[in-house]
Amino acid sequence: MTFSIHGLAVTRGIAIGRAVLVASSRVDVAHYFIEPDQVEGEINRVRRGRNAVIKEIQRLQQSVEALGPKEAPPELKALLDVHLMLLQDEEIIGGVKHWVRERLYNAEWALTSQLEVMARQFDEMEDEYLRERKADLEQITEKVLRAMQEEMQGGSASLYMPAGVHAAGSVDTDAADKTALVLVAHELSPSDMLQFKQGIFTGFITDVGGKTSHTAIVARSMDIPAVVGARSASQLVRQDDWIIIDGNAGVVIVDPSPIILAEYQYKQREHELARSRLVRLRDTPAITLDGEPVDLLANIEMPEDAAAAVRAGAAGVGLFRSEFLFMGRQGRLPDEEEQYQAYRRAVEGMNGLPVTIRTVDIGADKPMDSSAQEGKHLNPALGLRAIRWSLADPAMFLTQLRAILRAAAHGPVKMLVPMLAHLSEIRQTLSLLEQARAELHREGRPQGAVLVGAMIEIPAAALMLKTFLRYFDYLSIGTNDLIQYTLAIDRADESVAHLYDPLHPAVLRLVADTIAEGRAQGKEVSVCGEMAGDVGMTRLLLGLGLRSFSMHPAQILAVKQEVLRADAAKIAPWARQVLDSESPSALMGG
Ligand code: PEP
Ligand code: MG
Repeated sequence: MTFSIHGLAVTRGIAIGRAVLVASSRVDVAHYFIEPDQVEGEINRVRRGRNAVIKEIQRLQQSVEALGPKEAPPELKALLDVHLMLLQDEEIIGGVKHWVRERLYNAEWALTSQLEVMARQFDEMEDEYLRERKADLEQITEKVLRAMQEEMQGGSASLYMPAGVHAAGSVDTDAADKTALVLVAHELSPSDMLQFKQGIFTGFITDVGGKTSHTAIVARSMDIPAVVGARSASQLVRQDDWIIIDGNAGVVIVDPSPIILAEYQYKQREHELARSRLVRLRDTPAITLDGEPVDLLANIEMPEDAAAAVRAGAAGVGLFRSEFLFMGRQGRLPDEEEQYQAYRRAVEGMNGLPVTIRTVDIGADKPMDSSAQEGKHLNPALGLRAIRWSLADPAMFLTQLRAILRAAAHGPVKMLVPMLAHLSEIRQTLSLLEQARAELHREGRPQGAVLVGAMIEIPAAALMLKTFLRYFDYLSIGTNDLIQYTLAIDRADESVAHLYDPLHPAVLRLVADTIAEGRAQGKEVSVCGEMAGDVGMTRLLLGLGLRSFSMHPAQILAVKQEVLRADAAKIAPWARQVLDSESPSALMGG
């Protein structure tokens, strides 16, 4: 039966495919398609994994028995019995066979797909005791996965050790001819999203998350339709359901009827046509009708994204979110050499165009690892995040500064500092930068000059622009956080997403003042938050005097089209009216 789920639109476009439900804890399980001649081998891998766990349980049962009736803990005995019974249930292997044979999923993916199907059956059980067995099912799946992983690695650690070890998160990119797949999850962390970046999914749906949560930002950078904040989507959608994601409206249609499907296939083609028309603008300079040149820059997460930036005709990288190099590594930080090589790859990838490397912005909804401690703080967005995190560990920060300066020897580099609010933070940052410069100089290592900029993303910073402009070469407005902190709305919380308003008069005032003050002092101001890539905001920002926009590469051509159609001088009076209005959105048609 067809039904729809409403969430928040992240990326424009339509995706049509089958649902792949992935539990949040299992997104790092490998997902790839196998060749038909590998089918039996994959099924046997699961069988062997299951048999290894069965053997281990039987061994444990014997040692428990040997303790005698007084010593043997009854809970452990019962647990082992339940696990054994679940493992011997033929539904597991039966389901795995289906996913491997019919869909050509690899063994781990087939096993976790079957887990999702069976977990749903447990959820629907009336009997509370039986319902609670879902946790046992999850545990044994975990153990079978580990047994399979150990077989691959030739290891033999106990399968009844603490859980938490998953198979590698590789994805197969050679899957274009297979059925399109849409990932449905309760929650995905930004680092989870990263592993799907080159992946097999044509769309994403998550229950939680706001429009400018970092998960949404990474989905946008992948340029595939996504809906976040879809509340109970992961409960309502079943493994393998047909799904339509309408990324324009933020709607998910489950099990569409043939008529609805045909309509969306038509919309999908229309959207693709419009995009292919935009490609013609790639080499057209971004200049307004009245001759104002505008810099359209790219936001990237990994050095390899530089290629997409160049393809989109970006004038440089306006924001390299360096924190993505720090994520999903079980807390092991990248050393100077690794960072230097990564920054250098980005710089060389841009062929002489400037690359703005933002110093690490870990924290809040960008934890280093999905299970990390950061989430445990009461107010992580107000906690030890970004520059605060860097300054809390000066040696670590110095490592990054040295790596950035060394990369600057290979092409134009600008450095950008996130979340500054205090003069003391500015002073400490600049003094550490000086120290890094001096150290490299003493060591005789090549380094390049870097312009140093500050992000304006806390109202306090926007209210002390004169100070900021005294210390920095340029400013970049992080509207995602500026909105969050001005309006006191968690950008990652879908329950307050309706209050997250880029057109709130207070937000516009801070943005406009920053642009005006920068221009007055002859210093560049750019916007690198999601507002810069929103075509609905381009004219207003141009009218307020903005001449530098940084966004996901996929948005550059659509924004360029707006720039080419705009007359900056004529728009300015209207932009001032919008700014002075108590209800700016009412004037936005103008
Ligand atoms: C912003 O806050 O607008 C920004 C660009 O930084 P991030 O989204 O990474 O917090
Ligand atoms: Mg920010």
